[in-house]
Amino acid sequence: MSKILVISETRDGELRNVSFEAIAAAKQISADKEIVGIVIGDDNLDALANELIYYGADRAVTITHENLKNYTSEGYGQAILAVVKEESPDGIVMGHTSIGKDLTPKLASKLETGLVSDVVGIETDEENVIFSRPIYSGKAFEKKIITDGISFITIRSNNIPALERDESRTGKVETKEVDIADLRIIVKDVIRKASEGVDLSEANVIVAGGRGVKSADGFKLLYELADTLGGAVGASRGACDAAYCDYSLQIGQTGKVVTPDLYIAVGISGAIQHLAGMSNSKVIVAINKDPEANIFNIADYGIVGDLFEVIPMLEEEFKKILV
Ligand code: FAD
Repeated sequence: MSKILVISETRDGELRNVSFEAIAAAKQISADKEIVGIVIGDDNLDALANELIYYGADRAVTITHENLKNYTSEGYGQAILAVVKEESPDGIVMGHTSIGKDLTPKLASKLETGLVSDVVGIETDEENVIFSRPIYSGKAFEKKIITDGISFITIRSNNIPALERDESRTGKVETKEVDIADLRIIVKDVIRKASEGVDLSEANVIVAGGRGVKSADGFKLLYELADTLGGAVGASRGACDAAYCDYSLQIGQTGKVVTPDLYIAVGISGAIQHLAGMSNSKVIVAINKDPEANIFNIADYGIVGDLFEVIPMLEEEFKKILV
């Protein structure tokens, strides 16, 4: 039977949502092929493997090894190559995350196959599966088809909705032993610097601050609003350069690319490099005291005003509805 492999990703022992979206993407590529979810780690991964099945995988394979506790491209690469060789899939899907971006070009070149990266939409006609991906910093979209052989496909978070979780689904969970050898790097531990809470790249709501927020203290207002909305805080490079927040929050051409349902840009002018990271958000709200600010050109809703007055008012109103 022909099949598609879905390489899942974990963070802090939990599957990242993009893994479930990748399963939905695999189903859109072909409703007939077997979808095989792959989980990689150093522990018992059966519970995570079952989650992949609840979200639509037909079968799951776990690959465990003491050197797979934390991601390295060599370790994960060896694990995935072993499973690809054994399973001979027709395609391999994973998230367009830092790991996906690092891993898939290397594996595609090793296997001499193609890679369609950063996919935001999948359609089919009678003959082809057509992948849409943004180009020119999100100003246009190109459509690609795979003409020959297997290919890696990476999907951007928050664009292809995951299927409903269905605990009644069943499927085989297999454990695969792999020989992870000759690693030049082993990551012993990961010490997280960024704040706790919702993962920025997968958040449905983002409150992003710019230089207009004026200080690290000003960012506290944004954290409060994000908290009320169950979202994450992001930032422009202007705010990161000014040390109002950590660079891990930077959104844009040289930061993270995000596509939340709601993006609230606070005191951000809307430089082209910032827009490159957020212009595909579903609803954009801009708060800026300058009515000529470029951010208003892409905003669905604009509030011209002083953010230090507007944010507390918004917070109060949201709390009435949400808390
Ligand atoms: P500013 O442009 O200074 O805007 C601040 C805004 O706050 C203004 O519009 C002002 O009207 C408003 N404001 C001030 N006070 C208030 C108030 N009290 N209430 C309401 N509004 C207020 N930038 C990114 O963001 N991400 C990137 O990835 C990125 N990559 C880059 C890569 C390259 C190669 C280069 C050259 C630049 C890059 N930049 C990036 C930088 C980008 O060009 C801008 O300099 C940056 O986005 C500006 O940040 P900002 O909008 O916060 O600051």
